[in-house]
Parts: sequence; structure tokens; C-alpha cells
Amino acid sequence: MMNLITMGRRGALILATALLGAACSPASDTNESSTTQTNQALPAGNIDDARINNAASEPGNWLAHGLDYREQRFSPLTQINRDTVAKLGLAYELDVGSNDALEATPIVVDNTLFFTSTYSIVHAVDAVSGEELWRYDPQVPKEFLRKACCGPINRGVSVYQGNVYVATLDGRLVAVKASNGEKVWEVDTVIDRDRFYSITGAPKTAKGKVFIGNGGAEFGVRGYVTAYDAATGEQIWRFYTVPGDPSLPFEHPEMELAATTWKGGAWWEVGGGGTVWNSIVYDPEFDQVYLGVGNGAPWTRVIRSPGGGDNLFLSSIVAVDADTGSMNWYYQTTPGDNWDYTAVQDMTLADMTVDGEERKVLLQAPKNGFFYVLDREDGELLRAHPYVKTTWATHVDMETGRPVENPETDYTEEAKWVLPGPLGGHDWQAMSFDESKGIMYLPAQDFPFIYSLNKEFKETGYFKRNPGTTNLGLDMENSSILAAEMEDSAPVAKGYLKAFDPISGEELWSVDHVHYWNSGVLASAGGLVFQGDGLGYLSAYDADTGEKLWTYNTYISMLAPPVSYAIDGTQYVAILAGTGGVENFVGTTNETAALKYGNFGKLLVFKLGGDAVLKEPRIRDRTIPEQPLLTASADQLLRGEQQYNVVCGGCHGGNVRAAGIIPDLRMMGDGKHAIFKEIVIDGVLSAGGMASFADVVTPEDAENIRQYIISRANIDREAAQQVSSSAGG
Ligand code: CA
Repeated sequence: MMNLITMGRRGALILATALLGAACSPASDTNESSTTQTNQALPAGNIDDARINNAASEPGNWLAHGLDYREQRFSPLTQINRDTVAKLGLAYELDVGSNDALEATPIVVDNTLFFTSTYSIVHAVDAVSGEELWRYDPQVPKEFLRKACCGPINRGVSVYQGNVYVATLDGRLVAVKASNGEKVWEVDTVIDRDRFYSITGAPKTAKGKVFIGNGGAEFGVRGYVTAYDAATGEQIWRFYTVPGDPSLPFEHPEMELAATTWKGGAWWEVGGGGTVWNSIVYDPEFDQVYLGVGNGAPWTRVIRSPGGGDNLFLSSIVAVDADTGSMNWYYQTTPGDNWDYTAVQDMTLADMTVDGEERKVLLQAPKNGFFYVLDREDGELLRAHPYVKTTWATHVDMETGRPVENPETDYTEEAKWVLPGPLGGHDWQAMSFDESKGIMYLPAQDFPFIYSLNKEFKETGYFKRNPGTTNLGLDMENSSILAAEMEDSAPVAKGYLKAFDPISGEELWSVDHVHYWNSGVLASAGGLVFQGDGLGYLSAYDADTGEKLWTYNTYISMLAPPVSYAIDGTQYVAILAGTGGVENFVGTTNETAALKYGNFGKLLVFKLGGDAVLKEPRIRDRTIPEQPLLTASADQLLRGEQQYNVVCGGCHGGNVRAAGIIPDLRMMGDGKHAIFKEIVIDGVLSAGGMASFADVVTPEDAENIRQYIISRANIDREAAQQVSSSAGG
């Protein structure tokens, strides 16, 4: 979840580019080797463990989420390189019919691209022509949107043993045939339908199994990961990440250990959290699966576990046996998490020399701002250098393996700005690792956040879970008021692309981005690093210097990672463009492409000499219309603001400033104002995703919220008119 503050007032817009002219010399990379391995019976081939493990032998494909089981996301292709990239152009575009975030990594196998769009819809597309071959729509109910934190997003599929596996926003796991999208089996992964579980992550496949977790910590759920038989959907094992109700037996021995680290609270009533919503990695060398575990529910530990304790396995990397799900080791990045510091971020497996010794390592840059290098065999901590500014902790003590917290940012008594905030120094956006150089290229950000203890808990010592909305344990009601009060001391929010040495902690270079929320990263043997940004530019940087060598205006803000593949001697770079997720919460003032143009989700595919042309979309009219009469008292307006912050701001934006994805309520016409209560209470627009909030909003508060919207619209309308009149005169 995200706070409700405005930001991005500082920092200049830098769009200048350096296009280096160079002679085009097509290299010889093709996917020749893959043609000998394909299964003729299936257009998508028969992908198995050996093929994913040996993905390097078929460099034309992108077989798995992180390319192969090592998840390095480093393309070995070289046709597009420093010398040729100036000739990179659009091969084709495909409108996927979405206006929310596209976050999937496309899987490329034997001339077919497999990816997901919003509401967990699976697309199979001819990788050369862009023609859609089939589409599978799992029919996620649109009104489910309010039960998920961050929009109808999905991070992709797994293609394995002739099937395509997708996990749906409403918590199902589905296998469809890779050849035609026909459903093979479907299971419900959710243990408690009274809680708001959702899934946005890509399933992982290995050893004849499908591994999947879930999300929903902010709504108050208990995290777990389940392994299913890939052929039948039969459940094989389940690993809970946090202990449940202590009056019930432990589900597995690890829960007995974990329970000793939770003290005094009633965490199981809120849920505990620990959802594994993104990264699950299989390691064939140790036959174990790494689970990236999320934050606590609620966020604040004084509410969740007032007696202290580390609250295992929150914010941990847990290694479990692939066949049994029993734990081999764990490493907790943020003991007793207090800040939404998930360790769900992508994990990369590598072999590296550390202190003169060859080590099999796991690399992760979780939200908390430290870059961890662990020994995969036993979880030993080898390095933990900061990769962004961290104010919550001074450093990680290498003797104890624990972060040393900074008492000055403790927020139990008074509100504090903290870095990183809940978007993390790095979130789910993919990073890319060049093992030959030992350099990680990662999208990072400074995203400050005001943490302040929940007011009711502060006054009464009591915190009650609200089943209909988020349960952070923070003073979210007054978030916009606090942000205004503390604006002067706010750190600057911005984004970066960094080349980082996880062993030395050295930053080789760093590119500044105006906007904090940018795309995943792809590095390649062509000496390039590709990244899309929030302003809509896809760029290629020199991997050695960070110099921008190529840039392309897509007019779409990007989050998903680019991938590269080659067919018949031509290398392609593909990216799904379209923003959203936590973007919605912030109410940015940066001129993102989503704000400027809207957010029309597309698959964009590039090749050398590509000459397809993207049409510049119409620039949106963002003139705030004249508002209905403001009739509320000051008290009613304050109540409206507080209720808006808790119930509405997460999607429609802090300070009623939307990010260009979900409707901006300042733009409502008289017709919408007239039926505002019917929308919020009766759910008359639920088919479009705006479900009824009758369980959390009274009719009286719906009117208070509407009045607050009017007041905010009036303020911004007046400010805009002043700007335009002073510009005109
Ligand atoms: Ca979270």
C-alpha cells in the first residue's frame, strides 16, 4: 500500500538523448540450437526442467520468468549492441485492450510469445508478426478489484510440459494447453474466502510441480505457498509463512519455531501477513525452492507483536525442499518488520568469488535498501551493502546478520519521514545481472513516506481489523494532513537505474529519473541495458558507463521488464507498456505519460531497422470542471478527507489527484455527482470495477467524501486558473 502524499515537485525533466550513429552489422545469433529440441506436436514445444536449466543453449528463446532457473535476466544476444542500437526501431505494436498496469515478463518459446494482461488474461502471440494466436480469459469478476491492493495486475505465466500456467487475481491457479489455450485444470488456492486473498505473481514450475503464493497482507491475510502437481493440479505441499491461531495445532514444524518469535498480540486476527506475492525461485543445484516473504499485517510491530520478537518468517528468504516443502534454512532481512519491507523482490542465483572463495550465491535487493548476498547452501550472510539511501537503519551488522535500526526514525511516538518508504528502495521491477562482470543493473528509487502510529491504537491500545479495507496500523486517516504539515522536511522522491557491485557495495554508475516508478531492466551481451520509464521513454544505456545510447518515445509509462529473443537471425526486444500498481496511490505531479495521454496497454516489439510508427495519442484535457456547490461544514470536510484517505485514496490518488489510470474524481461531471451515493453505496458501476463500499462507508460519509472531493477540485481548479492567467498576461 501507498501513502497519500504529493511529490515530485523538484527535479527537472531531462529528455535529451544522445543518439550515436553507427554502422549496422548484423551479428550471427540465432535460435538454431532450439530447432533441434522442439516437440513437433506442440507449437510451444515441450519445456521441461532440462530445457529451462540449459536455456543458454537456445539463446533465441526466453523460456522462463527470469530467463532460466538462475533468474539472471541477462540476454546473450548481441545483434543489437552499442554500435547498432541507433538503428533500433519498432517492429510492431499490439494493443492488448487494457488501461491498467501491464507487469508481465513475456515468455518466448519457438516463435510464440506468452504473456498476461490485466484481470489475469493470457495471450499467445506470434513473436514475429504480433498476430494473436489465442487468448484465455479466466473471467475474474471486475468487482474483485477492491479486494486487491494494486489494480488488476498480473506478472505473467509459466510455460511447462505443454501447458501454460496462470494464477488469477481472485486466487485460482489454472493450467491451459500451450497449443490452444484450452483449460486443462483449475484449483482454488485460497484457504479462507472471507479474507481478501489475491494473486498477482507468476507461477513457478519445476520438478513436475507448480509453486504459487498470494497477496493481500494489507487487507489482513496469512501468507502461504502451495505446490501442486503440474499435470493434475493435485496439492503436494503447503508452507505457511507466519503462525496462525495459537489455540490450533501447528500445520508444520517450522510454525512451532516461528510462533516463539511472535509475542503478546492477536496477530492471527488481523492475519499476520507474510505473503509471497512475487518471487519464488527453484535452485536445481540444491533441489530447493526459495520463497521471498512479504511484510507483516498490520505493518506496525507494536500492534502486531507488542511483546517484541522477530516475527518469523516476515521479510525473509526461506529455502524449502522442492519435494516436501520442509525448510532447509531461512534468512530474515528485516526482523520484526515495521515498514512494509517485503523480501518478495526478485532473487538471482549465481556463482561468485567472495573473499577469495567460490560461492554459490543468492542475490536480492529487497525493499529495505540493503543488497544481500547469501550462500545458497546454508543461507550464510556474505554481504549486505546499502544500494539506496536508508534512514531506518544505519547498517547491517555482519556478526549478527541483523540491521542496526536508527532510533531517530522510530515512529511510535511521533510521525517520521523514512527512507525507503513502502515502495522500497527497489520493488518488484526486475533487475538484470551480468555474471561475467559481477554487476547487477537495478531499478531503484527514493520514495519517502510518513509513518505514524494508528491514532485509535495510540489512544486506546486497541486495534480492530476492518475486513473491508486495508489494515496498516498507521494513521492513514490523517495521512494527507500530516504530509502537508511535514512537507518542508520531505526528502525528494526520484528514480534511478543503477549499476551495482553487490560484493564491494560500489555503485559503478547511476542514471537519474524524474519519476520514481519505472520499468524493470534488461542487460545484454551487446553491452546494453534497457529500461522504460514513467515518462514513456524506452532507452538503452551503455552497460559500462550508463551513457544513454538510444531512446524511443512510446507515449506509455512502463513498469514491466523488457526481454529479448531472436528468430530467423533477427534479434527482438519486447516490452509490455502500461503503468499502475502503487502509482495509483500517490497522486503524482510528475508529467508521466499516463497523466499526459492516458494509459493504453500495448505490447511493443523492436528490431534493427524496424519502421513501424507509433501515433502520438491525443493529449488529455485535464481542465477541472466547475464544481457543484460546496455545502459541508469544516468538520464534515475533515471527516470526508479522513474517510477518503482510508477508503478511496488507494486507487483514486492522494489529495484526489489520480495518476491517469483510475478515474480522477475532480473531473466528475454533474451526472456522476448526482449518483455518487448510488455508485459508492449501491455499486451501480461494479461491472466496471467500482464495487459497492456499503460495508465500510455510510451514506452520510459518502456525502462527506463527495464534499471533500469538491473542495479539493476547487483548490486545484483555482490554482490552475491562476497559472494560466499569469502565463497569459
Ligand atoms: Ca505490502
